[in-house]
Order: sequence, then C-alpha cells, then structure tokens
Amino acid sequence: MQQIEALKELLATPKKVMITTHHKPDADALGSSLGLSGYLKKKGHQVQVITPSDYPSFLNWMSGNDEVLVYSPKVDKQAQAIIQEADVIFCLDFNHLGRINELGAYIEKATATKVLIDHHLQPDTFADIMFSDTSAAATAELVFEVIRDLGDEKLIDIPIGECLYAGIVTDTGSFRHASTTRNVHLIIAELLQTGIDICKVHRNIYDSYSETRLRFLGYVLKDKLTVVREYNTAFISVTAEELKEYNSQTGDTEGLVNFALSIEGVRFAALFIDRTEAVKISFRSVGDISVNEFARQHFNGGGHKNAAGGISHVSLNETVEKFVNLLPLYKEQLAQ
Ligand code: 5GP
Ligand code: MN
Repeated sequence: MQQIEALKELLATPKKVMITTHHKPDADALGSSLGLSGYLKKKGHQVQVITPSDYPSFLNWMSGNDEVLVYSPKVDKQAQAIIQEADVIFCLDFNHLGRINELGAYIEKATATKVLIDHHLQPDTFADIMFSDTSAAATAELVFEVIRDLGDEKLIDIPIGECLYAGIVTDTGSFRHASTTRNVHLIIAELLQTGIDICKVHRNIYDSYSETRLRFLGYVLKDKLTVVREYNTAFISVTAEELKEYNSQTGDTEGLVNFALSIEGVRFAALFIDRTEAVKISFRSVGDISVNEFARQHFNGGGHKNAAGGISHVSLNETVEKFVNLLPLYKEQLAQ
C-alpha cells in the first residue's frame, strides 16, 4: 500500500513518462506496457513506450503499437533524450537492467523516478518504487491491480483491457499454468466486463501464422526434436541457416519449446536457437524442477520456476553438448 501511495503522489500532476520492457517483448511485456500507457495517457500524462528491440508482428494489433519507439542504433539519440527528459520511468516485465540492452545504462543514469512492475524471480533493486510479485501470473495482472488500487479501474476500456488480457492469456499458457489463480480469473471477469473481444485477441496471437512459419514448425518437429527418455527431457535446436531458409521472423520461434514439453512423460524441455551473435535458449519444466535456477547456474539467464531463458556464447553444438552433459547431475529430479 505504501508503494501505491508513493505512486499516487508521483502521478498526481502531469508527468513525462517513459515505459520500457524486456528484450524481444512478448505479449505480456508489450501488453502490460501498452495497457499502462493507455491508462496514463487518459490521466493526462505524456507517455512514450520504448522497446529495447523489435517484437513479433502478431502483437501489432495492440492499441498504441504505432507510437512505440523500437530501439535501434538509428534512434539512439532520440531514445537517450526521452530517457533523460522523463520524470518517471516504468520498467515492466523484467527484473534487471541487463535485460534491456543499451537502454539499461541510459536508465541507470537517468534522474527520473523509476517504477518496477514485474513478476520475475530475484528482482534487482534499481527502482524507487517496486511492485514485484513473483507469484503473479503476468505483469499485466499486476498492472491491472496497480490501476485498480490507484482507484481508476473504471478507466480500463476495451483497448487497455485487450492489451492486459493478452499478457495474462499468454503468460498463463491460456490459463493452464499453476500461476492461474482465482485472482487471475476474477481479473479476467473484470476485463470481460469492459467488452473486450477475446476471440479477436486469441486469433491475433495464436492463429496468425505465416505459411512459412507453419512449415518451419513442421520441419522442426520432424527433424530437429531430440527426446532423452532416460532424463524425461526433450529439446529442439535450430541453426542460423535453418532460420534463414525458412525466412524466420521475430516471433516465429515463440512457443516452439512448448511442443517439446508436450510429449508424454517429458518434464524438462529446452530450445536452442543460433542467433549468430549468441545462442539463445528457452527452458520449460513441469512441477518442482526449477529452470530459473538451471538457467542462472549454467546459462547466464533466469526467469520463472517453470519458464526461463538463457544465453550461450559458444557454438550451437557445444551449447547442446553442455546441456546434455548436465542432465546426469539432475538425474534424481528428472527421473522421478
Ligand atoms: P522465453 O523462453 O519465452 O524467451 O522466456 C521465458 C522467461 O524467461 C521469460 O519470463 C523471460 O523474461 C525470461 N528470460 C528469457 N531469457 C532470459 C535471459 O536471458 N535472462 C533472464 N534473466 N531471463 C530470461
Ligand atoms: Mn511476463
């Protein structure tokens, strides 16, 4: 409540607000940012969302998408100026400044009051006001609560509601993960009350594959999936050449790792993608296996207990080999 009072005071007069979120924003990162942005604009603030990188085109339907500044070296000066001039900087859906590339150093130096709204484990303490709840299903859930606790739930309209809904639906795996609490469903009920079109949101996010993306999925599942029965583990690896061959766009590999986890008996899944500058890894697990710890210890990453990511600076083959060699260390947890 102290944090809400501090935020209320901070936003009592019109402010220059900058909102950012993690590298390669997903629906929760972008949806919570644009939902919050829509609300703050209604309150009379001047708001600019800056993402540290581009994001999948299946998120372009979100209200406010057209005004997002996507960071690239070309807009570096503009981004720096916005950050320097901001009174308030909101950091959404990430837990440390290392997750936002170049923007991290700029925000660290900025004089603005920093507000963190996030649900990742082990958050850093760079923010002045913190709404960090690692039991929350999505940052969008927390944004809803912040708006509600500021006394402004009535300002949540259809465009804002659809952004927040998108964040919650994706981060809960369409309401199937353990994070899907009663509270989540109560918030969804409130969002439905605004008149949001959930069919539109689902279709935009899940049923908008390009033909090449679907064929890429078919190829990967047929030829690139390895199942290690002994350790109830499955993984997929994708080379830079394969990405090129299938003209892979940002977002085309999203959700791939879940197919590995969907195999009966599999409790630990990984996806390795050669992004040329580094190998990007996604981890997923079921039950007590903490992929957050696994990613932190071995792959310079982190995230949530059952969904985390990491990075590797050796080759794709060496990265996969390192992963496979680690499995015996987790035999007891994995073989249950
Ligand atoms: P995904 O596998 O979908 O990219 O990410 C799963 C979760 O792990 C997300 O919550 C994401 O924010 C987090 N995550 C992904 N990559 C990294 C990383 O390199 N470092 C950290 N700390 N978290 C990550
Ligand atoms: Mn999230």
